Amino acid sequence: MEVIQEIKKRVYSFGDREADGNATMKNLLGGKGANLAEMSKIGIPVPPGFTITTEVCTEYNKLGQEATVNLIREEVRESVKRIGEIMGADFGSSSNPLLISVRSGARVSMPGMMDTVLNLGLNDVTVEALAKLTGNDRFAWDSYRRFVQMYGGVVMGMKPESKEEIDPFEAIMEEIKEDKGIELDTDLTTEDLKTLVFRFKEAITKRTGNTLPQDPWEQLWGAVIAVFNSWNGDRAVYYRTMNGYPADWGTAVNVQAMVYGNMGENSGTGVCFTRDAGTGENVFNGEYLINAQGEDVVAGVRTPQQITKLGSERWAELAQVTEEVRRETYPSLEEIMPSIYKELFEIQRRLEIHYRNMQDMEFTIQNGKLWILQTRDGKRTGAAMVKIAMDMLKERLINEQEALLRVEPVKLDELLHPIFDLTALKSATAIAQGLPASPGAATGQIVFHSDEVEKFKHAILVRVETSPEDLEGMHRAKGILTARGGMTSHAAVVARGMGKCCISGAGALKINYKTRTMVIDGREFHEGDWISLNGSTGNIYEGKIATKEPELTGEFAEIMKLSDKYRTLKIRTNADTPADALVGRNFGAQGIGLTRTEHMFFEVDRIKAMREMILASSTKGRKRALDKLLPMQRSDFEGIFEAMDGTAVTIRLLDPPLHEFVPHQLAHQKELAEDLHVSLEMVKAKVADLEEFNPMLGHRGCRLGITYPEITEMQTRAIIEAAINVSEKGVQMKPEIMVPLVGTIEEFRAQKEVIDKTAELVFAERNTKVEYKVGTMIEIPRAALIADQIANEAQFFSFGTNDLTQMTYGYSRDDAGKFMPIYLDKNILKADPFETIDQKGVGTLMRIGVGRGREVNPWLKIGICGEHGGDPASIEFCNQLGMDYVSCSPFRVPIARISAAQAAIKAQARNS
Ligand code: ADP
Ligand code: MG
Ligand code: MG
Repeated sequence: MEVIQEIKKRVYSFGDREADGNATMKNLLGGKGANLAEMSKIGIPVPPGFTITTEVCTEYNKLGQEATVNLIREEVRESVKRIGEIMGADFGSSSNPLLISVRSGARVSMPGMMDTVLNLGLNDVTVEALAKLTGNDRFAWDSYRRFVQMYGGVVMGMKPESKEEIDPFEAIMEEIKEDKGIELDTDLTTEDLKTLVFRFKEAITKRTGNTLPQDPWEQLWGAVIAVFNSWNGDRAVYYRTMNGYPADWGTAVNVQAMVYGNMGENSGTGVCFTRDAGTGENVFNGEYLINAQGEDVVAGVRTPQQITKLGSERWAELAQVTEEVRRETYPSLEEIMPSIYKELFEIQRRLEIHYRNMQDMEFTIQNGKLWILQTRDGKRTGAAMVKIAMDMLKERLINEQEALLRVEPVKLDELLHPIFDLTALKSATAIAQGLPASPGAATGQIVFHSDEVEKFKHAILVRVETSPEDLEGMHRAKGILTARGGMTSHAAVVARGMGKCCISGAGALKINYKTRTMVIDGREFHEGDWISLNGSTGNIYEGKIATKEPELTGEFAEIMKLSDKYRTLKIRTNADTPADALVGRNFGAQGIGLTRTEHMFFEVDRIKAMREMILASSTKGRKRALDKLLPMQRSDFEGIFEAMDGTAVTIRLLDPPLHEFVPHQLAHQKELAEDLHVSLEMVKAKVADLEEFNPMLGHRGCRLGITYPEITEMQTRAIIEAAINVSEKGVQMKPEIMVPLVGTIEEFRAQKEVIDKTAELVFAERNTKVEYKVGTMIEIPRAALIADQIANEAQFFSFGTNDLTQMTYGYSRDDAGKFMPIYLDKNILKADPFETIDQKGVGTLMRIGVGRGREVNPWLKIGICGEHGGDPASIEFCNQLGMDYVSCSPFRVPIARISAAQAAIKAQARNS
């Protein structure tokens, strides 16, 4: 019960140019609530309301419904009264009723993941009062119809029961529309709407056994609890898990006076962005509908219209609508309500400057008056993220550090994805056109149901429209195609957030979920057929189209260059081939942090020599086989050294258990026996002999080099000879030879002796010298603890955080798949330690390793080469530890550069 006493205020009011909260209070009020308060304070027209804090949601999860309602009842009553005073109406009054919305709002925006109920307070009596007050019967009944529908769905659980069923309310609506021969919601008469309300209520009672509550207070509490519950709903849980948001954040609940976009031709509702969320272009844009409410625009019930004239013209071109039809049927808000447009334009400018970030806003026009219902930092594609950051820097809206901090490092990944090859695109057949909702190129096989996306490795999810239920499928699909919905539809917004290619509103598609087919211009496409989407133009093509690597120019190159100005960590890449090395280098890698020599052994001709070496029963036999491997390794190293001219390259000696190199299938064993002129039995016996109980803790790493020094000799020779050979061509290269899996100083000493001896031998033979270094991986916990001893003799450390994590936790990385998802789900682990460094445990060992190493040798070069080298949080940690570099896979290099810059900026901010 202590929690209860700690919290003094649970409800925060806003509206009428005042507010208890402000934009900095997102954790407490949720993003929506904090921004409603902020807008209210700076004089933006926001309907009055209040926010029940996220802390109450957490209390609710502990205490349950009754106790929670008791905790907030008084504050809520007071706050509702305040809204009524401002609006000149009374909640629950049968003559002058106040109507409200109950909206969810977590600290980060989770579009459509949680629930909202509009028009709350309506019942069989107040609907008549609303009709009388407004003199608009149709409007009152339309609002009531929407309320019953939303309350039924959100609070009373009226949802489709199977994926092939449509929403139960939609089904009734379709039936009535069909009976009357009408297409649009707006064509329903007041009588139709009354019938709908009646039928909806009937359906609720029939299915749930409960009647729709008529008491406004009961409605209010029901909705508040439903919003709290939606935090733990399937969609929200999936979204949270996907983004790593903890369960204990909770959602706030916003209760707000209703404003009406469905009052007639002088009313409407819309969504707008201060810049283009797909490309980042600095143009105000958005969509609206006349005589509509709330979700209508997003849900794609009618084709939404463009807010700006420019947008409208661009749209008309894509939709192949003539200028005449455009002006008459789909005019822009700028054209039909110029003064409202002007006001909206001013507000969006003010908000962008105030928040210093691209804003995504919701608005409603009630009888010619503009209201703003929401603003938030807009979700955007990776390309837009980079462009907007650089543009705002150039506009002096933000400074360099802020521009860098605006980049979500992992989102850069999108910019590195392949794009369609232009020549291939020219010869492709376009089958239809939709709206370019989220840029990118996608090729894949058609699936119609989100839970079936897994059927294909490359799936294109094709839907009439998407809903939050489709989230997981959208995440897994390569691209998304919808028949309905505009640029602000659920599909479009979510796809842009995910950086996933999406085309929306392709009206030519006739989709049948049951038969799993779609028809375009009379042609039928089936599940499994290949199609391609160009999310940048909206073109849909038949079949597969070749792709190519993107070019990294423009703002991307600019922000990368800017990151180099701020970061102090060096970035290297992990590369086993010259091709990988070049990719990494082109992305800005300043050296190679890890070359795994064993990968080179897996190619056809090499694996033979490798197997011969493993099967040899004497040192002599092993040497013979190693002699065959030597020239191959040497030429690989030469290639890598040339690619990395002028930088440093770290090469790790043979690391994995030998068992990984021998054949396990009988046919392959026979083949090997024949090749080597030995008996099958002998091969089988050797394979069996190599089997280990715990290969990861077995005969591997430097243990191989110590038992078979000739392997280390051969590898050293290949490295040193390669360095001499390329230096004769003028290539600058100082190889760094890295001994894996060291746990005692004696191990390192023994290997270093072999390496130095071999190097001296080669120098004598070639009558020349090159500089080289010998260092070690720190990947066994013991190595971190004796780092001072090792630092006396090693010239560099590289933390192998994969093995270090594996051995610190005692989790086998290859077997962790069996329990890791459950551990994450049950909150036993907050994050997968193989993805992001466990700073508390593994990190402590690293801190000890760095500290003890530098104590002995302050100039000791220290880096990290595990998977963690590409993870932003881990990079920040390495920066804190004072490492010299992080090394990651080639495609992660840009992510690492930005992350390193952000780490340096944050560190500086902390120190000043
Ligand atoms: P989401 O977070 O899913 O966008 P919202 O709470 O923002 O949900 O609400 C859904 C829709 O209802 C939005 O279009 C919003 O603008 C509209 N809406 C919410 N509250 C009101 C209100 N008080 N008056 C008019 N429209 C509202
Ligand atoms: Mg919203
Ligand atoms: Mg290792």
